[in-house]
Amino acid sequence: MFRKALIAANWKMFKTPVEAKAFVEVFLPLVAGHERDEIAIFPSPVLLPELVKATQGSRIAVGAQNIHFAEEGAFTGETSVLQVKDVGGSHTLVGHSERRQYFGETDEIVNKKLHTALRHGIVPVVCVGEMLAEREAGRTADVLKRQIAGAFAGITPEEAGTIVIAYEPVWAIGTGKTATPEIAVEAHKIVRAEVAKLLGAEIAANMRILYGGSVKQDNCTSLIQQEEIDGALVGGASLKPESFATIVKY
Ligand code: PEP
Repeated sequence: MFRKALIAANWKMFKTPVEAKAFVEVFLPLVAGHERDEIAIFPSPVLLPELVKATQGSRIAVGAQNIHFAEEGAFTGETSVLQVKDVGGSHTLVGHSERRQYFGETDEIVNKKLHTALRHGIVPVVCVGEMLAEREAGRTADVLKRQIAGAFAGITPEEAGTIVIAYEPVWAIGTGKTATPEIAVEAHKIVRAEVAKLLGAEIAANMRILYGGSVKQDNCTSLIQQEEIDGALVGGASLKPESFATIVKY
């Protein structure tokens, strides 16, 4: 089974348009000719037009960190999938743990957003992962199954083809604590088995599952080279073009 890896940058709430452009000017030459994997960058919505412009003609996809589940409406402060699409965004994160933790995103909201992204041909990267207390209580598998079943409710095998999942243990995000390859692989297998249960073995075998959580230059290779790990979602280490380029070329 061949799954093309996706190496994705989550810039969170960092960078100005000028800084985004400067990043791309350094980053593009560093990854020129590197065609093995897909690359995507998820900046703040205000950076989307600048980043799309700066990466035009390159292989780098640009996506949103979040979309609302409604196409438009009185939702102050939110970003619509139509707006993302209109400025040239092709992907979106859905249910990042920071959205779940700080902005009250439930499995039900994640599910609605996933439907919205798919309806508009935007590639969704659905984030799942357990908190430290859940892992310590032996509840990791239950949490992952609940999050996957919740996110995928009402999704048919026909529409699931573009979905990407990111397994991001919350205890590893921004903490410098990375899951070992063994821990990540075990979680990925749980996630893939749940997808197979919901959508069938073929869809599950083709679905890319990224690992995220303190991926850095010195640990990316041992993680991404695992057969079960189909790329990475990188926060902190994606902010500098040199370190992100090293991870892209793991
Ligand atoms: C993330 O934001 O998805 C992430 C994994 O962050 P970090 O790499 O900084 O842990």
